[in-house]
Amino acid sequence: YTQSAALLERAKKVLAGGVSSEFRKYNHPHAIFYTHGQGSRLYDVDGNEYLDFTLSQGPLILGHSHPHVLQSVDAYSREGQLFAGQHLKEIELAEKMNELIPSAEIMRFCLDGSEAVQTALRVARAKTGRKKFLRFEGHYHGWLDNVCWGISTPSAEALGGREEPNVYPWTQGLPERTRDEFLILPWNDLALVKQTVEKHHEDLAAIITEPIMCNNGCILPAEGYLQGLRDLCDQYGIALIFDEVITGFRVSLGGAQTYFGVTPDLSIFAKAFASGYPISAIVGRRSWMHVIEEAKVIHAGTMNTSNATVAAALATLEVLEKEQPYERMYRLGRKLMEGLQQAAAETSQNMTVEGLGPMFNTAFTDLESMHDYRDTLLADKAKLGRFIAGMHNRGIRVIGRGLWYISAAHTEEDIEQAAATAREVLKSL
Ligand code: PMP
Repeated sequence: YTQSAALLERAKKVLAGGVSSEFRKYNHPHAIFYTHGQGSRLYDVDGNEYLDFTLSQGPLILGHSHPHVLQSVDAYSREGQLFAGQHLKEIELAEKMNELIPSAEIMRFCLDGSEAVQTALRVARAKTGRKKFLRFEGHYHGWLDNVCWGISTPSAEALGGREEPNVYPWTQGLPERTRDEFLILPWNDLALVKQTVEKHHEDLAAIITEPIMCNNGCILPAEGYLQGLRDLCDQYGIALIFDEVITGFRVSLGGAQTYFGVTPDLSIFAKAFASGYPISAIVGRRSWMHVIEEAKVIHAGTMNTSNATVAAALATLEVLEKEQPYERMYRLGRKLMEGLQQAAAETSQNMTVEGLGPMFNTAFTDLESMHDYRDTLLADKAKLGRFIAGMHNRGIRVIGRGLWYISAAHTEEDIEQAAATAREVLKSL
């Protein structure tokens, strides 16, 4: 890693922190700088090859450098950069998204997930005339001011007196007033949500949730939970917002709302639908989104919908629709989950593997399965760090918090290689 080590020193002089937070947060053994990716593989500046299950934090659902995406971006870019709407391709993209996303009627595009979340919250407030939001412990909705409060920082009461080992000090740059905008509850407890909504509904503009909790663990909603949220929102005129930044087009065409058959009022898409090119969408029914049409909510952005990013989205959706890689991604993902579970059993390691095929999480815990964020706090993060480092040193990249993403480019051999390597690493822990 000598080239990477030299680049880190160079980067530190001009880039705050030198590298993104992943390296620092999860004690990776080395800060690695990459040169390129191809299919399921990633290559670093020292010439090392990695089998990649991080997929650039999820978006590369077709794998690295998918030829159709690259060609499409290249072709549309040659037409010049057309920004901020007013080109045919943007309409085509919205029409396609409407076709594929169950709750979609009209939408707006912006640059990243965080901005689209911000817009959804504004729409909910403008429509309802209420000010507060209900969100859930351990869910991540981006890095903008108001949603940063509460990420990974449940109350002392929620922690039952335990020290939270992973409290991020990032709240220091946030305005204090935004702290009170949210009610924060543990996830997957419908009775508690009901109780809270009954008490606070006159102030509540929206309930925002990841439909699958995948920023801390990969925790599925309890049976009937999402429908329960839907019913409560209907009863009290509250917006139900699904943050599908991770789940959108990853767990199925159209996202978790297709998978679970529960439709939100507003939803956020980013990451996978454009193979990670900087475009996101806030999608919803006209009965909510009309506040944008009527300019009661400002939504702008000079660089929204550049034709390069719209081209990436159109090409990605075209491939997903035509090739329908989901069945294969589920099969390969499940095979790897089983391989990891078997390796853990054989080596007597308390590693649990949870989630769906296209994405799942590994954690070292004595719990058989996790139900909410509080359960994730019981997991052994130091051991997970050693596992991730061991995988990395043997050429396999997994997201530091234990999340694995499968792409359409992964092969049977990739899955077998990963399971065999994990067995080796687990044995060495
Ligand atoms: N919501 C969720 C569920 C996310 O996982 C993320 C990013 N990981 C975001 C919002 C923020 O998206 P972005 O990083 O594109 O701003």
